[in-house]
Amino acid sequence: MRKRALVVGLGIAGMSAAIGLRRAGWTPVIVERAPKRRTGGYFVGLFPEGRQAAVDLGIADHLHARNPQRAARANSWSVDRRGRRRPALGFLDQPGEPAAVLRGDIEAALWQNITGVEVRFGTTPVAITEGPAEVQVLLGTTGTGAQYRESFDMVVGADGMRSSVRRIVFGPDEDYLTTWNAMICAFQLKQQVPSYEASDSIIIAHAKRAVWVFGLADHSPTALLTYRTTDIQEQFSGSRVQRLRSVFSGMDDPVARHVLDSLEEAPDHLFDSVHQVRMPRWSNGRAVLVGDAAWCMNLYSGMGATSSLRGGAALGAALLEHPDDLTAALAAWETGLRPFITKHQRTARLKQQMFVPSSRRAEALRSVLLGLVRRIRGRRPATEAGGPRTRALSGTPR
Ligand SMILES: Cc1cc2nc3c(=O)[nH]c(=O)nc-3n(C[C@H](O)[C@H](O)[C@H](O)COP(=O)(O)OP(=O)(O)OC[C@H]3O[C@@H](n4cnc5c(N)ncnc54)[C@H](O)[C@@H]3O)c2cc1C
Repeated sequence: MRKRALVVGLGIAGMSAAIGLRRAGWTPVIVERAPKRRTGGYFVGLFPEGRQAAVDLGIADHLHARNPQRAARANSWSVDRRGRRRPALGFLDQPGEPAAVLRGDIEAALWQNITGVEVRFGTTPVAITEGPAEVQVLLGTTGTGAQYRESFDMVVGADGMRSSVRRIVFGPDEDYLTTWNAMICAFQLKQQVPSYEASDSIIIAHAKRAVWVFGLADHSPTALLTYRTTDIQEQFSGSRVQRLRSVFSGMDDPVARHVLDSLEEAPDHLFDSVHQVRMPRWSNGRAVLVGDAAWCMNLYSGMGATSSLRGGAALGAALLEHPDDLTAALAAWETGLRPFITKHQRTARLKQQMFVPSSRRAEALRSVLLGLVRRIRGRRPATEAGGPRTRALSGTPR
């Protein structure tokens, strides 16, 4: 008899886990609160561990990187307080040479690989009760309000930073969510900032507020506005556009103006507070959390998608290795993954300073540091300039 698992959430972690489970001989059933699969999304940098997980999950060939061609001039620019632009180290210049994708690209590639897996939209868990040999889940249908019970051998909570599975099985959000006193707003730009090349990236990182434009090879750029604030609750009141205009007022720069104007025209955007999820254990009996639900590192780490892919793939591998012992499988999975997650949760604090410095001093230090690194690295060898950077993750040039 194939064991059945309820996977809650149709994001990167949920679909990765479903593929991993299926490979381990399980039958996953995915429930997703939204009425349909989301598409699009913001810029995501995929690091080597994420690319390897994509290969392990068999999705690498469906997922192509959108890294801009390396230009002889520069791909990334920083704009200083006087509006002067300078070549800069961008997100994609980090060690590991992240692949530039949209969140939706990863989800689309995973989606192609979960053909045959049952997916129930508009469905969410209401109660989870563990018995000796199974876990009973009360499921609610968001459209009709109908509820029904169903038994599974395991529940996988892959339902994001504000996970319902975590709340039901492990306790309230306050026990696990740490607040970072910062906000983000991410969306796609219809058009690049005037006077920049279509695939340029632009960074304005002032103390407590920053504007990032991520240039892509074959897609309009995406934008990220991020700022620090101690009053998180207040940020969710009133109009978001007005709020952001007021936070970024005084940053009198054409780039900031273009991004703020574009926000008003954007069909959708993500506006949220920044947190990290810290949990002493990711599983409890027959329930396990994966991805942001378990360890949300937050966007500053740049490792959320990478770790969601890796977490889902590793879960499948652990279940395959311990087919008759769920406790041993979950323990082995967590032991193997924990050091990687802890490391990146820690470095996220430093990376936050790179995204949005905490003070004028930190802003100056950031600028000096990155300038120094850029000088040490020097100009790239001529052979690299202009070389192909858009390719399938499996390595096949497109
Ligand atoms: C602006 C921004 C930039 C980022 N940049 C990067 C980057 O450069 N590199 C990187 O690796 N990561 C990045 N990340 C992080 C990365 O996108 C996330 O860590 C990753 O997408 C998390 O995936 P997930 O599946 O765990 O959660 P989610 O993407 O949150 O998916 C959860 C899913 O569960 C569903 N759901 C929620 N509640 C329920 C419920 N009660 N019942 C049923 N379904 C439910 C949701 O609708 C959703 O489909 C970034 C994040 C942001 C916001």
